[in-house]
Amino acid sequence: MALTKQHRLSFEFFPPKTDVGAKNLQSTRDRLQQLGPDFFSVTYGAGGSTRDNTKTVVLDGLHAGCDIAPHLSFGGDSEASIKQLIDQYAESGVRRIVALRGDLPSGYGDGSRLVHANELVEFIRQHYGDTFHIAVAAYPEIHPEAESYDSDVGFLKNKFSAGANSAITQYFYNADAYEQFMECCAKAGIDHPIYPGVMPITNFSNLKRFSANCGADIPRWLDYRIEALKDDAQGCKEFCSEFVTELCEKLIVLGAPGLHFYTMNQSGPVEAICKNLGIEKI
Ligand code: FAD
Repeated sequence: MALTKQHRLSFEFFPPKTDVGAKNLQSTRDRLQQLGPDFFSVTYGAGGSTRDNTKTVVLDGLHAGCDIAPHLSFGGDSEASIKQLIDQYAESGVRRIVALRGDLPSGYGDGSRLVHANELVEFIRQHYGDTFHIAVAAYPEIHPEAESYDSDVGFLKNKFSAGANSAITQYFYNADAYEQFMECCAKAGIDHPIYPGVMPITNFSNLKRFSANCGADIPRWLDYRIEALKDDAQGCKEFCSEFVTELCEKLIVLGAPGLHFYTMNQSGPVEAICKNLGIEKI
């Protein structure tokens, strides 16, 4: 099933740490811009330099004419410094924010209290009214720290009650997880759009390590299939691209309102999947 213009399409970047990374990201962004996304988003790391890197990528994107959303979390910072940052975003023309609790990097400092995402959403609405479209995170396979499935869905509902407009999910490889989750959200009275996050599979060993931390399940059969292709780089690439394309197709059939791609700052894997999904360059 093809993606249509009614489906929202967005691409996520992380802020590069080097000049070469920054140059590569610009060319990735320019290539993906040709697919006509609704917006890009840029992840955020708590702490000074990573925080500024996010702002740099966002402002660059705005200057290049892109709709681009910074991710944001308190991450141990004061309300005043977060407000200063959001002021800068508002003045620069940013109109979307992805509001998160975030995870503190190790060594960030004891005594910092992570501020839940619903509180950040409230803070933004309190100070900026409807200036921003606010997206929050959702977890079809449930957040690793959640006490229960129901409590996690309940906290997602809180984020909407606080004023969030939409949610983007953690990536997952079981379409059933999204279907179940959407049913539970509907039963809990959530009627805001929840966009599946899609992670193309490129570096499988890194992905497995990362997935173990963030609570994304790698199906056992998928692990075996990809392992079996470890000496066939081209075959592996094709298999992964087809597998993720089929996942996207299933999600669209299930009624997903669009797709949010975790690009890992690479255009190739996303372009291949989008092409399979019928998304033409504009
Ligand atoms: P919350 O919604 O606050 O939830 C965190 C946990 O606490 C959950 O277990 C939830 O059940 C529970 N909970 C929620 N609200 C409350 C409450 N009010 N009281 C008590 N418990 C509560 N991380 C980054 O560091 N930078 C990024 O840029 C980034 N981008 C992301 C983008 C997406 C689309 C997603 C899905 C995740 C992203 N993350 C990012 C990871 C995210 O920060 C972590 O998963 C983090 O652990 C939780 O963030 P959250 O906003 O979901 O937190």
